[in-house]
Amino acid sequence: MPELWLPGAERHPLGDTAPTDKQYAPRVIWHITWDKNGTATKPADLVPFGQLVRYFTGGGSGAAPHLLWDPFTGRTAQFYPANSRSKSVVDTAGGTRTNRTGKVCIQVETLFFPYCRVRGKTYATVRDTPAKGLSKILAWGRSWGVPDVWPMGTPTWNANRSERTWETRGGHYGHGQVPENRHTDPGPMPKWPTTGPKPKPGAPPFPGRQTFGPGKTNDSIFLLGQQLVRRGFGKHYRVGPSRAWGEADRLNVQDFQLAQNWSGADADGVPGPETWRRLFA
Ligand SMILES: [Zn+2]
Repeated sequence: MPELWLPGAERHPLGDTAPTDKQYAPRVIWHITWDKNGTATKPADLVPFGQLVRYFTGGGSGAAPHLLWDPFTGRTAQFYPANSRSKSVVDTAGGTRTNRTGKVCIQVETLFFPYCRVRGKTYATVRDTPAKGLSKILAWGRSWGVPDVWPMGTPTWNANRSERTWETRGGHYGHGQVPENRHTDPGPMPKWPTTGPKPKPGAPPFPGRQTFGPGKTNDSIFLLGQQLVRRGFGKHYRVGPSRAWGEADRLNVQDFQLAQNWSGADADGVPGPETWRRLFA
């Protein structure tokens, strides 16, 4: 299983865990804490990180996310393990259980409000920040099967919501894109880094067995997944391949190996040089 706690995050477990609705694709919901209202002419100082930690572990625990993330320093604090729901979106009776939708439904509160001031500089959107530590959060999401996509488009200040998209696609959502909710955060977010290499023509060299398996994340896993899909062996991916090894990778490789009339250890779902050669042949 991938890591329940983001490596490097300060842990403040609230207890009070509850399962998610795992029949839906995995996702991340992004917020901003929006503690104050600054303007271009009247910016306000960013709120201290510790104040938000005290809030989410105290009076604000009823709306606590999984993660609090400071995009200026990369500091993170975590309140729920990845496999639990958290509580930062509104869930009205009926319809989707919005805090629970997905194999994981990881919520991130970005320590930010428009026109916050940090070390003398003013920031209008999260996109303008250094976004320190973002790639670590994205990689952690990928390890849980969350692809680097925005199914409803990159967030803007205008909320748009589609319950159908929400229920059928994994990836990243802004709070303003979650059904049953009225908030419009997080506003424009940083551009996601690219997820992997473009495949080159011809069989790439076999990267070695140690490249694959639980806990591994690299471009070769993404390349393998792309090629499995291309060859018609992608049915275990719910949302497509990623750089993080998952059980779906193993099952898809195993299907390909079984299709070679191999059995036993030759069809264990871990690619060896012969699997690789045939797959890219
Ligand atoms: Zn929000």
